[in-house]
Amino acid sequence: MGRVLVVGLDCVPPRLAFERYRRFMPNLSRVMERGAWGPLQTTVPPITVPAWACLLSGYDPGELGLYGFRNRVRGSYQLELAHSGQLAKPMVWERLRAEQRVCCLFVPPSYPPRPVHGELVSCFMTPDADSAHTYPPPLAAELRERFGPYLPDVEEYRTEDRARLLEQLYACTEQHFAIACHMQRTRQPDLTVMVEVGPDRFHHGFWADIDPEHPQHDPAGRYRGAGVEYYGFLDRQLGLLLEAAGPEVNVLVISDHGARALYGCVHINEWLIQHGYLVLKRYPRELTPWSELEVDWSRTRAFGEGGYYSRVMLNIRGREPQGIVPASAAEALCERLAQELREQLGPDQRQLKQRVLRPQECYRAQNGLPPELMVFWDDLNYRSSGAVGGGTLFSPTNDTGPDACNHDWQGIFALAGPDVAARGPLASVHYEDVAVTILRLLRQDSSDLPGRDRSQAQGRA
Ligand SMILES: [Zn+2]
Repeated sequence: MGRVLVVGLDCVPPRLAFERYRRFMPNLSRVMERGAWGPLQTTVPPITVPAWACLLSGYDPGELGLYGFRNRVRGSYQLELAHSGQLAKPMVWERLRAEQRVCCLFVPPSYPPRPVHGELVSCFMTPDADSAHTYPPPLAAELRERFGPYLPDVEEYRTEDRARLLEQLYACTEQHFAIACHMQRTRQPDLTVMVEVGPDRFHHGFWADIDPEHPQHDPAGRYRGAGVEYYGFLDRQLGLLLEAAGPEVNVLVISDHGARALYGCVHINEWLIQHGYLVLKRYPRELTPWSELEVDWSRTRAFGEGGYYSRVMLNIRGREPQGIVPASAAEALCERLAQELREQLGPDQRQLKQRVLRPQECYRAQNGLPPELMVFWDDLNYRSSGAVGGGTLFSPTNDTGPDACNHDWQGIFALAGPDVAARGPLASVHYEDVAVTILRLLRQDSSDLPGRDRSQAQGRA
């Protein structure tokens, strides 16, 4: 009674799962037909970390103090990689009754593995198969015996060797679903949460091949059918897992963000240099990673971090190690920066549509060390890089290896099962609704969380 299986498909956009590939995904289609489904509005920023942690806790990125894969360290200019020890708020599986057991598989960030009431395998941020990756620790040997060494992720997905990427991708996805099926059959957990990062890797590697609107799309290319094949494969894995779970389990299929064509990359620290906010001791001729640059902090008012979006931080006196901006001047400086960032034209002098957001307008709290500004270049048509050199403001591609897609604001939500009364298309599903819906299906209190229970919502969009 009231069991729940959450299948997280990283980076799957509604346009593919609900439209273009739906006929190749009979198992997902059946979940939609039996229940309710719709696009899911995800977090600011739309990135794997913090998105899954927000979806599965009901808290926003500011409350969790997670603003991306890497986060600032107080008293330093450095950033550190997100890890499971930073989850300061309870995840849904930490709110269950004593007799309810969880199986938590590959949910980022879950490395290093933390104790749960049940079992856990840590996510793709696990360094390798020999790193401790399960709770309880002996689970690792049981899984290795059946499924071989744990494959947390493909080796490098920004690569020219795409035959290798595709082969590893299938192997990882297949192993992850096999582990999930095994856990369903042998443990029958009250709550299973699984995240498969494969579709994210697939999109970064093959988006240009499958998206006719991508500037590099080749309709006769070798991998033009790779999307139908991979999504079909993913759906067969989903079918096996649904079969292992049985008809009495409520099923929620979600993604943490979507994907869209990537048109290029904006070098945020170059922008700050050109606008007089950032000063280097020596300016490099070649593009050079941010970590290798020598910054003249005594003359620097703002600095940036790249990725799917730009983060702009002020060099504030008393907060940064060599801060020069008085706290009282921060507000005016932010407004000026935001205005100038919005006015930046594209490489072809076309007007871009920057979304420049302040943490205080997006989040209920600002824990950790949030950036002053979050910049989504041309609303995610461009990604961002922290590297500087040669006067490069725009690069036609990503600077850390070939990458065909950026993330997008909408993921997917599809829910069905014996305790689900909702039917048909749902409007405006918000990421905060996910944790509340899971907790209500498990008969748990969620009254402290802001989301809506979507399992009982009647009526059509
Ligand atoms: Zn993701």
